[in-house]
Amino acid sequence: MRVTATFAATRAEYRGRVALVPTMGFFHEGHLALMGAAREQAGTVVVSLFVNPMQFNDPADLAAYPRDRERDAALAEASGADVLFAPSPEEMYPLAPAVRVSLPDLSAEMEGAHRPGHLDGVALVVAKLYAGLRPDLAFFGRKDAQQLAVVTRLAADLSFPVEVVGYPTVRERDGLALSSRNVFLAPEDRAGVGSLSRGLFVAADAAEAGERSGAALEGLVAAELEAAGLPSPEYVALADASSATRIPCLDRPAFLAVAARVGTVRLIDNVFLDPEGPADRGVRLERDSLLYAKGVGC
Ligand code: AMP
Repeated sequence: MRVTATFAATRAEYRGRVALVPTMGFFHEGHLALMGAAREQAGTVVVSLFVNPMQFNDPADLAAYPRDRERDAALAEASGADVLFAPSPEEMYPLAPAVRVSLPDLSAEMEGAHRPGHLDGVALVVAKLYAGLRPDLAFFGRKDAQQLAVVTRLAADLSFPVEVVGYPTVRERDGLALSSRNVFLAPEDRAGVGSLSRGLFVAADAAEAGERSGAALEGLVAAELEAAGLPSPEYVALADASSATRIPCLDRPAFLAVAARVGTVRLIDNVFLDPEGPADRGVRLERDSLLYAKGVGC
């Protein structure tokens, strides 16, 4: 595996179809699953590693974001990546960007409402990755459902010749969606966090059994959170999978999403629901995540 720092050096490595996996590093099995899926479909797998300041609406969150470049390089290589593109902030933003990339209709609710500017920052950096790396395929996690809608529509609206692929959420043994930020969960907070996925799974069961009311599905999630001592989530929302706008009724492909603060950590999760077929609850690890391996992050 080559480690590159510029767009041009990365493109010089290409053989055959190119699949891009954009990341902010501190890899867990969710990232590695995206790399594995990319490996199956491309001649060259490029993993980008850039903690993008433009998508952090909270400076403390940016400063604290976990980083371990050596560990990430080893894991990416073991997962079949050909190139790890790890640009400096100067390569990514040689000038303070004058262009803004914004998808207001897709960013008005949920993450867009609770993290002002976050999705615009994602759209800008992903537009730069699409333009600078010119991948044939780009893999994103369904865990960030609204982000997936944004980067898919971004490619369509600006005619980037990339096929965007969404990959199911990888979960810890207790159901918690893997996130690099899970390492910050305090032991006393751990008991409650399983309620997010439990609530979503209860709602997915109900949807598969015929429940179509958005309020009812959202209520099932809220009830599970409340029972676990998390009565005030930032949101529980049923949204159209493509437009990321809230819908009152499950009458098209959708995601049911939740965001909640647990201790100091902000968690998001979702299930994808389809009135015509089974829900996508993601996949669950059978062992502890490598996030908790000894020595990580030292
Ligand atoms: P991040 O490094 O958190 O920006 O994530 C990089 C990519 O990995 C994004 O496309 C995320 O949606 C995806 N991702 C993050 N967590 C998971 C997960 N638990 N399962 C699957 N994909 C994930």
